[in-house]
Amino acid sequence: MTREYKIAILNGDGIGPEVVDSAKRVLTAAAEDNSLAITFLDFPIGWQAYRKFGRTLPPDTLAGMSECDGWILGPLEAGSYPKDDKDYPMASGKIRKGFDLFANIRPVKSFLKGSKKIDFVIVRENTEDFYPDRNLFKGYGEFWPDEDTVLSLRVVTRRACKRISETAFSLARSRASKRLVTAVHKSNVLIEGDGLFLEEVRKASKAFPDIILNDGLVDSVGMQLVLSPEKFDVLVTTNLFGDILSDVAAAEVGGLGLAPSLNSGEKYAMAQAVHGSAPDIAGKGIANPVAEILSTSMLLEWLHSRNGDESLKRCASTIDNAVTKILASGEKELLTTDLGGNASTGQFTSEIVREIAAP
Ligand code: ATP
Repeated sequence: MTREYKIAILNGDGIGPEVVDSAKRVLTAAAEDNSLAITFLDFPIGWQAYRKFGRTLPPDTLAGMSECDGWILGPLEAGSYPKDDKDYPMASGKIRKGFDLFANIRPVKSFLKGSKKIDFVIVRENTEDFYPDRNLFKGYGEFWPDEDTVLSLRVVTRRACKRISETAFSLARSRASKRLVTAVHKSNVLIEGDGLFLEEVRKASKAFPDIILNDGLVDSVGMQLVLSPEKFDVLVTTNLFGDILSDVAAAEVGGLGLAPSLNSGEKYAMAQAVHGSAPDIAGKGIANPVAEILSTSMLLEWLHSRNGDESLKRCASTIDNAVTKILASGEKELLTTDLGGNASTGQFTSEIVREIAAP
């Protein structure tokens, strides 16, 4: 056994408790298989926290999280939170900004039988841009100058552009696949903000002469992502563009149930599936837990990159291999309903756990 890792569990809303429970079960099995000691610590967030404490992100949750090595967060139904929530409008934004989780890494990979070979990663800036909950020190970045007009403030800083660019180039180097970074922007319209973004991407590229840099307008890249997704490797972009493009890209590989993500900074990282709380299927036991499970595996990789503990990396590979095998099987009784199968969330999870435990 190596040292023990404390993982914060933040169930979230809607299908959150279901998919987070799956991620926990799979991580427990993989940790056992790789002699990795994990302790889970539960902290209230979202509606669960609001009902008990009158706020969706209680200070004790934040304090508990800061004592953990990594966090697994379920989706939050932020749009439904009441206005008297002290953490209104968005607990996850507050976490991302407050803990400086500046990079949102969103891999897009085809796992399903017979699918086109797609394997790229969207590296999305996570702390500013058109997100009004994130771009001011105090207050909210949308204003009503009169009753028929709204101004939405966009913030782009040199520092954020620099570090997200460096993250993207480092990732392209570590993937050692196409060694290609595509910077996605709209600098013909957002001349100053995206001009600054592009300037910093180009500057950062100088330290990575082994990586090719391309760039493209977000509308044109959006179309290419649909027409020829296999030609991309790493895409780097600002917050809102990254959010939109990753949902579009997820649709090409089987939908949101297969889209994982990691929010990471220098000190902390949080596994969080790309999808939302999916209220339409919450509590029915049919949610696809793959996105949350693969996000958890990304968290293990991140922890490994920080401390070099090889059992973390092995544990991540164990999870990835098991998920890859079950998804590639194409067998209806193994896949969840969103993928055309008939397995419940629990049955799918048990199958992954069985695969991990198999000799
Ligand atoms: P948000 O604004 O929080 O992103 P949303 O309603 O726009 O929420 P999702 O909650 O992600 O988006 O749901 C979009 C659709 O995808 C819904 O029909 C939902 O049921 C489906 N969906 C999302 N996640 C999953 C999942 N893990 N498994 C199966 N279906 C899912």
